[in-house]
Amino acid sequence: MNHESADIGPLLREVYRRLREEHGAQNWWPADSAFEVAVGAILTQSVAWSNVEKALSNLKSAGVLSPKGLWDVPVEELAALIRPSGYFNVKARRLKAFAERLWTEHQGSLEGMFAMDAASLREELLSIHGIGEETADDIILYAAGKPLFVIDAYTRRVVDRLRPGCAGPGYGEYQRLFHDALPKDSSLFNEYHALLVRHGKHVCRKTPRCGECRLVGLCVTGGEMAARNG
Ligand code: SF4
Repeated sequence: MNHESADIGPLLREVYRRLREEHGAQNWWPADSAFEVAVGAILTQSVAWSNVEKALSNLKSAGVLSPKGLWDVPVEELAALIRPSGYFNVKARRLKAFAERLWTEHQGSLEGMFAMDAASLREELLSIHGIGEETADDIILYAAGKPLFVIDAYTRRVVDRLRPGCAGPGYGEYQRLFHDALPKDSSLFNEYHALLVRHGKHVCRKTPRCGECRLVGLCVTGGEMAARNG
């Protein structure tokens, strides 16, 4: 992290204000229950959400979208049900590992697992096969409602363009920027991350649409592109 990170707090607060004004409330995460959020977080690794929705719908129809259902269903059957989410054999093993931990350590109770403080919960989730930092934080923020900022590829891209070199390369360095800049409020973290995803998908795309971007006056990359284009 270089010296610019010290000044990024006011910038990140202003970015939130503008994105909220531009895109409105995002009301994430689209799910009927905390357990569905957790399963969706595992399924969404490396795949579009529309594919995850099909897999979740299959799990619901088969009556296995519950701690007991995931525990009881044979792994081959589970893999077939989640096939639309891609990497289905790998993800089936991850879901089984998650269900196993729920039953071996928390009597099958998600609430029991979520009763831990955020740091202990994160440590436990990271110790489960196939759950990395982003997935763990998705579960902690969106399912457990505890304030840890989620860092994903969209977030990294927007931050890297706003202030090149201000963070990274590690996940924790990006996360620290948001934790230092914002009050520890899970609703705010929820909304801000959802806004960054929306912005990354529609405006700050791989090829950025700086001409349409509300952040252009704040953004180093946007400023450089405007200067180049005269
Ligand atoms: S000005 Fe351009 S590079 Fe900067 S955030 Fe907006 S779209 Fe991304």
